[in-house]
Amino acid sequence: MITVHEAETIILDQYVGFGTEYVHFEAAMGRVLAEDILCDRELPPYDRVTMDGIALKFDGFNHGLRNFAIRGSQAAGDLPLEIFDEGQCIEIMTGAALPASTDTVIRYEDIKIENGVAAIDDINVKKGQNVHYKGRDRKQNDIVAKAGNLIDSSVISIAATVGKAQLLVKKNPKVIIVSTGDELVDVNEQPTAYQVRRSNSYTIKAALEQFQIHPDLLHMPDDQQIIETKLASCLETHDVIILSGGVSMGKYDYLPAALKKLEVTELFHKVKQRPGKPFWFGKNEAGKLIFAFPGNPVSAFLCLHRYFVPWLELSLGLLTSKKVFAILGEDVQFTAPLTYFMQVKTETNEAGHLIAYPAQGNGSGDLANLLDTNAFMELPAESTNFIKGTVYRIWPYKRIL
Ligand code: AMP
Ligand code: MG
Repeated sequence: MITVHEAETIILDQYVGFGTEYVHFEAAMGRVLAEDILCDRELPPYDRVTMDGIALKFDGFNHGLRNFAIRGSQAAGDLPLEIFDEGQCIEIMTGAALPASTDTVIRYEDIKIENGVAAIDDINVKKGQNVHYKGRDRKQNDIVAKAGNLIDSSVISIAATVGKAQLLVKKNPKVIIVSTGDELVDVNEQPTAYQVRRSNSYTIKAALEQFQIHPDLLHMPDDQQIIETKLASCLETHDVIILSGGVSMGKYDYLPAALKKLEVTELFHKVKQRPGKPFWFGKNEAGKLIFAFPGNPVSAFLCLHRYFVPWLELSLGLLTSKKVFAILGEDVQFTAPLTYFMQVKTETNEAGHLIAYPAQGNGSGDLANLLDTNAFMELPAESTNFIKGTVYRIWPYKRIL
């Protein structure tokens, strides 16, 4: 049996690129950017007025003038008007381009307008106030969003701003999620007293949809022949097969033998961890990868977040994934010589610390416990006593704050 670290290394060694494609920027949320986005012009593109009011030349104000004749009114998007002497001003709206003959904007709140003249209250005025000057944020051709970033609403915003309707993104692998087990019925079927509904496929599918991967689903009975035939066809059609169930030591756990027969090389079978010990991982000649998770729902869920997601992020060249750590909130004992992925509920305290409280549930079959928790805390195999206040890595599967 290998350690968690060895399993991780073997899996991450198998990272592959799946190419790139263009998608419309509105459909790009959650994808990984495969090109830098450049400014098509300066940001802001002109001296942009930031308050509704009047535009004037500061020199006039500085020379003691307080009443300014209004030459006209300029809305956002209008061609700029001009003044011809220091005693004039232009009524101007937020978002308008500052006229070249002016340099300062005074807001409506600080003036009174009567008979075409704006009188300025007794206020301090600074030259250049209420103007967001051209090029202040970015220059033309500056990189505003870098390849490797996850596309979020701020990337969508910048794509819209610079007029980039098509974005080059990383292609996702074609994934199929395969469940196995004669005790499993589909969601809309009525299980007998000794059957359960198959939930894992939907759990994994929902988790992958956060990465904009839309996997296919397939169910196989515990029948060696059918398993071999169906897996052979999945290996043709998909880049990655995620299996759940059928890899333990049971009499009907046919998967390891079937995969061997289909010439998939076993890269490991069994990891020193709880949950998820029977995890099987392999690859065929064509580079197709098989993540065969144990069937217990919490085990499959852990393996997905601890192994598949980091592999996916590396394969997509994602730059922004970060390690997350938390402080253990209670003493914990775990005596088996395995890495223990303990379910926790995280909270922040008033000192700004992230504390992880154990909510261990009833083992790897207790999927209801996932509702009350938000992360796995990775407690190393080498220790048995884990002391409150110690920091360990966590693997969030929901928002942690
Ligand atoms: P196995 O790994 O096939 O021995 O399955 C271990 C446990 O997980 C058994 O109790 C199965 O009924 C359960 N199980 C396997 N696959 C699924 C699934 N897709 N959804 C829910 N439970 C499952
Ligand atoms: Mg089974």
